Amino acid sequence: MTTRERFPLHLRIFLGLAIGVVVGLLINRFWTPDVWASLSVNNPKAYLAGTAAPENDNASILAGAARLIASTTDFLGKIFVRALRFIAVPIVLFSIIVAVAGLGDPRKLGRLGAKTLGIFALTVLIAVVVASTLATTIRPGDGVDQSTRERLLADASVAGAKTLSGTTAASATSFKDQLLNVLTLNPFDSLARGDMLQVVVTAIILGFGLTLIPKERAKPVIDACDAITSAILELVRLLLRFAPIAVLCLITPVIATLGVDALTALIMYCFAVLLGMAIILFIEYPAVLWFFTRWAYAGTQRVGIARFFRAMAPAQLLAFGSSSSAATLPVTIECCEDRLGVPKDIASFVCPLGTTINMDGTALFQVISVNFLAQLYAVDLSFTDQLTIAALSILVAIGAPGLPSASVVMMVVPLQAVGVPIEGLALVLAVDRLLDMARTVVNVSGDAVAAVVVAASEGRMTDPPTGGESKSS
Ligand code: ASP
Repeated sequence: MTTRERFPLHLRIFLGLAIGVVVGLLINRFWTPDVWASLSVNNPKAYLAGTAAPENDNASILAGAARLIASTTDFLGKIFVRALRFIAVPIVLFSIIVAVAGLGDPRKLGRLGAKTLGIFALTVLIAVVVASTLATTIRPGDGVDQSTRERLLADASVAGAKTLSGTTAASATSFKDQLLNVLTLNPFDSLARGDMLQVVVTAIILGFGLTLIPKERAKPVIDACDAITSAILELVRLLLRFAPIAVLCLITPVIATLGVDALTALIMYCFAVLLGMAIILFIEYPAVLWFFTRWAYAGTQRVGIARFFRAMAPAQLLAFGSSSSAATLPVTIECCEDRLGVPKDIASFVCPLGTTINMDGTALFQVISVNFLAQLYAVDLSFTDQLTIAALSILVAIGAPGLPSASVVMMVVPLQAVGVPIEGLALVLAVDRLLDMARTVVNVSGDAVAAVVVAASEGRMTDPPTGGESKSS
């Protein structure tokens, strides 16, 4: 067994987090201004920034070493953040074009298609409402005092990021102007400026345009966009190899500034996300199933919660283990058909489409994470910002492929749109493995819920041929 196999990526990232936390806490606790003074540094801020200051002229060699470590850490962290920014615009553009164009001609989608999109929309809307409510009531990023948070924002070297972002710079203007503003006058300008909202809208429009021309003409373009998306995802995979070091470099200064408060905030954040997932899985989905299979369709097509969970368990477990709804797809389809009683044609239409565009867990995760980081960095979010986060999170969920950690780097989109420093992504990355497993279970279950609802609405749910037990168990 190679070292790489023995220490899979998520363990290495976690190790980066652990070392960063310990070093950060030690710095926070013991590296006081007195320590700097003992190293003949009387203006640490200027010294660390490399600005000339006469009171630091006699700085010792040890102080020089400390500064070198700090600046190297800062440099490595910045490279990683720049790489994320590099990826953000193209991946959003191409993956959303593929997702929208892949729907085909909306006029030809037909009744099943319309019902499927309707139930996808309903469940994801509920998910983002749950997410916004949890994020703004639990407020996982609070509990750090205001002055420390402002210091953190300044350290992120993006102080004033809010005004740098195209979207939020417009907050002073009216809501109507902001709405108008999402429709760019020049898509190339939006791409060059990295205005995420405009890029997303541009991608949707282009994707829609592709559905209007003959299939054979659209196909090469869609294939090219798809290939570029795959290439970028490969780059993301490569980039994630450096995540352990990057997380270490990015997290150390955060913990050094925030101390133990940051850890409490991180635990509260995981709690909020997992609670949100549990609400979707155990309250939203059963309620949707109850409403559509018992009430709306007169009880003839009943699918109870117990039957649903018993039938979907293999797919849910695989989703949990693999963090990939795409890899789970064959088992999802099989569970829907053989164990739930969804007819073959409906399962093999709804599930693949759902794997591509229906990701309630991902949308919930994005909304809570962006709110968490905004709270941590003391970035105030207006109601319009919340709407922007919700809308972009849904679009990221539509665009994200069903692969491990696929959506975490795409969080750059809502973060940038509302002016939250993307350096904070290090914190999210550090705990992403666990949250990814949970959101993939929700994503896969959401597809099965949609398949059942569509089948029930057609009056076509049957008793499962294998009585709820199948070859896959
Ligand atoms: N891993 C998720 C999935 O496969 C996607 C994500 O990263 O949110 O559904």
